[in-house]
Amino acid sequence: MTGRIHSLESFGTVDGPGIRFVVFLQGCPMRCMFCHNPDTWDVNAPVQYEMSPDELYDEVKKYKNYIKKGGVTVSGGEPLMQAEFVAEFFKICQQNGIHTALDTSGVIFNDKARKVLEFTDLVLLDIKTTDDTLHKTYTGCTRDNNHKFLEYLQQIGKPTWIRHVVVPGYTYDDRRLKAVADYLSQYSVIQRIELLPYHTMGRFKYENLGIKYPLEGVKDLTDEELKHAQTFFN
Ligand code: SF4
Repeated sequence: MTGRIHSLESFGTVDGPGIRFVVFLQGCPMRCMFCHNPDTWDVNAPVQYEMSPDELYDEVKKYKNYIKKGGVTVSGGEPLMQAEFVAEFFKICQQNGIHTALDTSGVIFNDKARKVLEFTDLVLLDIKTTDDTLHKTYTGCTRDNNHKFLEYLQQIGKPTWIRHVVVPGYTYDDRRLKAVADYLSQYSVIQRIELLPYHTMGRFKYENLGIKYPLEGVKDLTDEELKHAQTFFN
Protein backbone atom coordinates (compact mmCIF):
# COMPACT_ATOMS: atom_id res chain seq x y z
CA MET A 1 0.00 0.00 0.00
CA THR A 2 1.40 3.37 -1.03
CA GLY A 3 0.40 6.85 0.10
CA ARG A 4 0.49 9.76 -2.32
CA ILE A 5 2.04 12.56 -0.29
CA HIS A 6 1.92 16.18 -1.39
CA SER A 7 4.52 17.32 1.14
CA LEU A 8 5.96 16.79 4.61
CA GLU A 9 6.63 19.26 7.40
CA SER A 10 9.00 18.14 10.16
CA PHE A 11 8.34 20.82 12.77
CA GLY A 12 4.69 21.83 12.48
CA THR A 13 3.33 23.95 15.33
CA VAL A 14 -0.19 24.84 14.17
CA ASP A 15 -1.79 21.46 13.45
CA GLY A 16 -2.46 20.00 16.88
CA PRO A 17 -0.70 20.08 20.25
CA GLY A 18 3.10 20.42 20.55
CA ILE A 19 5.65 20.09 17.79
CA ARG A 20 4.36 17.77 15.10
CA PHE A 21 5.45 15.90 12.02
CA VAL A 22 2.79 16.88 9.49
CA VAL A 23 1.91 14.82 6.43
CA PHE A 24 -0.08 16.54 3.67
CA LEU A 25 -1.79 13.98 1.47
CA GLN A 26 -2.73 14.61 -2.13
CA GLY A 27 -6.36 14.81 -3.22
CA CYS A 28 -9.55 16.51 -2.01
CA PRO A 29 -13.16 16.13 -3.22
CA MET A 30 -14.13 19.57 -1.92
CA ARG A 31 -13.54 22.88 -3.67
CA CYS A 32 -13.66 25.39 -0.85
CA MET A 33 -13.73 28.99 -2.05
CA PHE A 34 -11.25 29.95 0.65
CA CYS A 35 -8.88 27.01 0.23
CA HIS A 36 -5.23 28.05 0.30
CA ASN A 37 -3.98 24.67 -0.93
CA PRO A 38 -5.59 24.15 -4.36
CA ASP A 39 -2.42 22.31 -5.38
CA THR A 40 -3.61 19.41 -3.18
CA TRP A 41 -6.97 19.02 -4.97
CA ASP A 42 -6.10 16.81 -7.93
CA VAL A 43 -5.63 13.29 -6.64
CA ASN A 44 -3.61 12.39 -9.74
CA ALA A 45 -1.26 15.39 -9.69
CA PRO A 46 2.47 14.70 -9.36
CA VAL A 47 3.50 14.38 -5.71
CA GLN A 48 6.73 14.83 -3.75
CA TYR A 49 6.61 11.37 -2.18
CA GLU A 50 5.04 8.00 -2.69
CA MET A 51 5.67 5.85 0.37
CA SER A 52 4.34 2.85 2.24
CA PRO A 53 3.14 3.43 5.83
CA ASP A 54 6.39 1.82 7.09
CA GLU A 55 8.54 4.06 4.92
CA LEU A 56 6.67 7.11 6.14
CA TYR A 57 7.15 5.99 9.73
CA ASP A 58 10.89 5.65 9.03
CA GLU A 59 10.84 9.39 8.21
CA VAL A 60 8.91 10.17 11.40
CA LYS A 61 11.41 8.19 13.48
CA LYS A 62 14.17 10.67 12.59
CA TYR A 63 12.25 13.34 14.50
CA LYS A 64 11.01 11.21 17.38
CA ASN A 65 12.88 13.21 20.02
CA TYR A 66 11.42 16.50 18.80
CA ILE A 67 7.82 15.33 18.59
CA LYS A 68 7.76 13.50 21.94
CA LYS A 69 5.28 15.99 23.41
CA GLY A 70 3.54 16.53 20.08
CA GLY A 71 3.06 13.81 17.54
CA VAL A 72 2.08 13.32 13.94
CA THR A 73 -0.74 15.02 12.06
CA VAL A 74 -2.09 13.83 8.75
CA SER A 75 -3.68 16.62 6.75
CA GLY A 76 -4.36 17.38 3.11
CA GLY A 77 -6.09 17.84 0.83
CA GLU A 78 -8.51 15.46 2.45
CA PRO A 79 -6.58 12.65 4.16
CA LEU A 80 -9.58 10.31 4.21
CA MET A 81 -9.33 9.97 0.43
CA GLN A 82 -6.45 7.63 1.34
CA ALA A 83 -8.07 6.23 4.46
CA GLU A 84 -6.50 2.75 4.36
CA PHE A 85 -3.03 4.25 4.15
CA VAL A 86 -3.75 6.64 7.04
CA ALA A 87 -5.18 3.85 9.22
CA GLU A 88 -2.08 1.73 8.73
CA PHE A 89 0.30 4.65 9.29
CA PHE A 90 -1.52 5.77 12.47
CA LYS A 91 -1.55 2.20 13.74
CA ILE A 92 2.24 2.04 13.44
CA CYS A 93 2.61 5.45 15.11
CA GLN A 94 0.40 4.47 18.05
CA GLN A 95 2.24 1.17 18.46
CA ASN A 96 5.38 3.29 18.87
CA GLY A 97 3.80 5.66 21.38
CA ILE A 98 3.33 8.58 19.00
CA HIS A 99 0.20 10.75 19.30
CA THR A 100 -1.89 10.86 16.11
CA ALA A 101 -4.06 13.71 14.85
CA LEU A 102 -6.31 13.69 11.80
CA ASP A 103 -7.01 17.03 10.11
CA THR A 104 -10.17 16.48 8.08
CA SER A 105 -13.15 18.24 6.56
CA GLY A 106 -15.33 15.25 7.49
CA VAL A 107 -16.58 15.05 3.89
CA ILE A 108 -15.87 11.32 3.72
CA PHE A 109 -17.73 9.28 6.28
CA ASN A 110 -17.75 5.53 5.72
CA ASP A 111 -16.32 2.32 7.20
CA LYS A 112 -12.79 3.17 6.07
CA ALA A 113 -13.01 6.58 7.74
CA ARG A 114 -14.31 4.96 10.94
CA LYS A 115 -11.36 2.55 10.83
CA VAL A 116 -8.94 5.50 10.73
CA LEU A 117 -10.60 6.91 13.84
CA GLU A 118 -9.74 3.72 15.74
CA PHE A 119 -6.08 4.76 15.48
CA THR A 120 -6.62 8.51 15.89
CA ASP A 121 -6.01 10.26 19.21
CA LEU A 122 -7.32 13.67 18.18
CA VAL A 123 -9.48 14.92 15.31
CA LEU A 124 -9.08 18.43 13.92
CA LEU A 125 -12.43 18.91 12.20
CA ASP A 126 -13.15 21.79 9.81
CA ILE A 127 -16.57 23.37 10.06
CA LYS A 128 -17.09 25.59 7.03
CA THR A 129 -20.62 26.81 7.86
CA THR A 130 -23.77 25.41 9.46
CA ASP A 131 -25.98 26.64 6.62
CA ASP A 132 -26.75 23.81 4.18
CA THR A 133 -27.19 26.05 1.15
CA LEU A 134 -24.09 28.11 1.87
CA HIS A 135 -22.08 24.95 2.48
CA LYS A 136 -22.79 23.82 -1.07
CA THR A 137 -21.87 27.26 -2.38
CA TYR A 138 -18.68 27.56 -0.34
CA THR A 139 -17.38 24.01 -0.87
CA GLY A 140 -19.25 22.36 -3.76
CA CYS A 141 -20.35 19.60 -1.34
CA THR A 142 -23.29 19.07 0.98
CA ARG A 143 -22.89 19.37 4.71
CA ASP A 144 -24.38 15.95 5.50
CA ASN A 145 -21.20 14.00 6.08
CA ASN A 146 -19.55 16.78 8.06
CA HIS A 147 -22.51 16.69 10.45
CA LYS A 148 -22.57 12.88 10.60
CA PHE A 149 -18.84 12.89 11.24
CA LEU A 150 -19.16 15.18 14.26
CA GLU A 151 -22.13 13.17 15.55
CA TYR A 152 -19.99 10.04 15.34
CA LEU A 153 -17.06 11.70 17.12
CA GLN A 154 -19.48 12.55 19.94
CA GLN A 155 -20.82 9.00 19.98
CA ILE A 156 -17.36 7.45 20.35
CA GLY A 157 -16.06 10.17 22.69
CA LYS A 158 -13.19 11.17 20.42
CA PRO A 159 -11.23 14.28 21.51
CA THR A 160 -11.93 16.93 18.87
CA TRP A 161 -10.66 20.37 17.97
CA ILE A 162 -12.78 22.44 15.63
CA ARG A 163 -11.39 24.79 13.00
CA HIS A 164 -13.47 27.47 11.37
CA VAL A 165 -12.14 29.89 8.77
CA VAL A 166 -13.40 33.44 9.21
CA VAL A 167 -13.75 35.16 5.85
CA PRO A 168 -14.82 38.81 5.44
CA GLY A 169 -18.18 38.99 3.68
CA TYR A 170 -18.74 35.25 4.06
CA THR A 171 -18.33 33.65 7.48
CA TYR A 172 -17.35 36.91 9.23
CA ASP A 173 -20.90 37.69 10.23
CA ASP A 174 -22.27 37.77 13.79
CA ARG A 175 -25.40 35.85 12.85
CA ARG A 176 -23.46 33.09 11.14
CA LEU A 177 -20.85 32.92 13.89
CA LYS A 178 -23.65 32.56 16.42
CA ALA A 179 -25.18 29.73 14.39
CA VAL A 180 -21.83 27.90 14.37
CA ALA A 181 -21.32 28.51 18.10
CA ASP A 182 -24.84 27.31 18.94
CA TYR A 183 -24.37 24.21 16.83
CA LEU A 184 -21.02 23.31 18.37
CA SER A 185 -22.12 23.93 21.95
CA GLN A 186 -24.07 20.65 21.98
CA TYR A 187 -20.92 18.52 21.52
CA SER A 188 -18.99 17.72 24.69
CA VAL A 189 -16.10 16.05 22.81
CA ILE A 190 -14.97 19.43 21.53
CA GLN A 191 -11.93 20.51 23.53
CA ARG A 192 -10.98 23.55 21.57
CA ILE A 193 -12.22 25.79 18.77
CA GLU A 194 -9.80 27.65 16.53
CA LEU A 195 -11.04 30.56 14.45
CA LEU A 196 -8.65 30.88 11.54
CA PRO A 197 -8.35 34.25 9.81
CA TYR A 198 -8.78 34.20 6.03
CA HIS A 199 -5.65 35.31 4.18
CA THR A 200 -4.69 35.63 0.54
CA MET A 201 -1.29 33.94 0.80
CA GLY A 202 -2.46 30.96 -1.27
CA ARG A 203 -3.50 33.18 -4.16
CA PHE A 204 -0.32 32.63 -6.19
CA LYS A 205 -1.08 28.89 -6.23
CA TYR A 206 -4.31 29.53 -8.13
CA GLU A 207 -2.39 31.63 -10.64
CA ASN A 208 0.22 28.88 -11.06
CA LEU A 209 -2.54 26.32 -11.64
CA GLY A 210 -4.43 28.59 -14.05
CA ILE A 211 -7.53 28.55 -11.81
CA LYS A 212 -9.57 31.71 -11.36
CA TYR A 213 -9.23 32.98 -7.78
CA PRO A 214 -12.73 32.53 -6.27
CA LEU A 215 -12.49 35.32 -3.70
CA GLU A 216 -11.19 38.08 -5.92
CA GLY A 217 -11.25 41.38 -4.04
CA VAL A 218 -11.79 39.85 -0.59
CA LYS A 219 -9.24 41.23 1.84
CA ASP A 220 -7.40 39.37 4.63
CA LEU A 221 -9.29 39.28 7.91
CA THR A 222 -7.70 41.96 10.12
CA ASP A 223 -6.48 41.36 13.68
CA GLU A 224 -9.34 43.53 14.97
CA GLU A 225 -11.91 41.52 13.03
CA LEU A 226 -10.46 38.26 14.31
CA LYS A 227 -10.59 39.58 17.85
CA HIS A 228 -14.20 40.61 17.38
CA ALA A 229 -15.07 37.17 16.01
CA GLN A 230 -13.30 35.47 18.93
CA THR A 231 -14.96 37.65 21.53
CA PHE A 232 -18.35 37.24 19.90
CA PHE A 233 -17.83 33.52 19.53
CA ASN A 234 -16.74 33.08 23.16
S1 SF4 B 1 -11.32 20.67 2.40
FE1 SF4 B 1 -9.37 21.71 2.81
S2 SF4 B 1 -8.02 21.08 1.13
FE2 SF4 B 1 -10.10 20.56 0.50
S3 SF4 B 1 -10.78 22.31 -0.69
FE3 SF4 B 1 -11.46 22.64 1.41
S4 SF4 B 1 -9.85 23.85 2.39
FE4 SF4 B 1 -9.00 22.98 0.48
